[in-house]
Amino acid sequence: MHGSRAIGIMGGTFDPIHYGHLVAAEAARTCFGLSEVVFVPSGNPPHKQDRQVTAPEHRFLMTVLATTTNPYFRVSRLEIDRPGPSYTVDTIETLQARVGHDVGIYFITGADAVMELMTWNRPEAILRMCELIAATRPGYPPADIRRLRKAIPEADAKRVHTIEVPALAISSSDIRARVAQGKPIKYLVPETVEHHILKSGLYGGDLTAGAGAGPLSEFWRR
Ligand code: NAP
Repeated sequence: MHGSRAIGIMGGTFDPIHYGHLVAAEAARTCFGLSEVVFVPSGNPPHKQDRQVTAPEHRFLMTVLATTTNPYFRVSRLEIDRPGPSYTVDTIETLQARVGHDVGIYFITGADAVMELMTWNRPEAILRMCELIAATRPGYPPADIRRLRKAIPEADAKRVHTIEVPALAISSSDIRARVAQGKPIKYLVPETVEHHILKSGLYGGDLTAGAGAGPLSEFWRR
């Protein structure tokens, strides 16, 4: 039985984290009266075994750098440190036990990810333990919202909320592509994250390109 306090768990790969994620988390916090939002970068995303995901420590560090100025945001290493595939159900169970069963939990993530909820590990347990906040990009078609609701068993549909976040026009895949093409990412990610990406040579970018970058830059890319 949940009391009046609730927290948000912001789940994502965050490869990299960007302003869209930060605005979505803050919107969820204020709209749903959450006392804090815990960002949980996924360690070993079970649905991304076929694609290269940036090393967890880089994604964790960028998430810390991005959230440091918001006193209501925290970052958890839970999925990074847990061996095996990062199942959301395990994360919610662990965090619920830590904060106590009188605290409500809202799991916040992208609407496209929520659409696939019924393919996740133990979706019925997730819907029992928490409410979901699906963040949509502007212009997300109403047909997709209907599809999202249909993807969830009718009895649980009221536990799935949507919030439209204009800043989600920014996307991680676009940022990765921009870095690879040498295009600027200023104002799409916090400055500290931009510097980390370029300094570490993530996504094929290189701050020191043409300035005598040596073999060590290859080392830090890992
Ligand atoms: P994804 O499939 O990479 O993302 C789908 C869409 O949602 C993308 O447009 C993505 O934009 C957006 N998105 C992702 N996280 C978001 C967030 N926190 N706020 C706003 N938009 C977000 O999804 P993912 O990042 O890998 O996974 C999302 C969450 O679902 C993670 O916590 C993951 O562990 C969980 N999940 C669990 C299971 C399971 O338990 N079996 C399976 C799948 C996903 P960006 O690319 O710009 O972020």
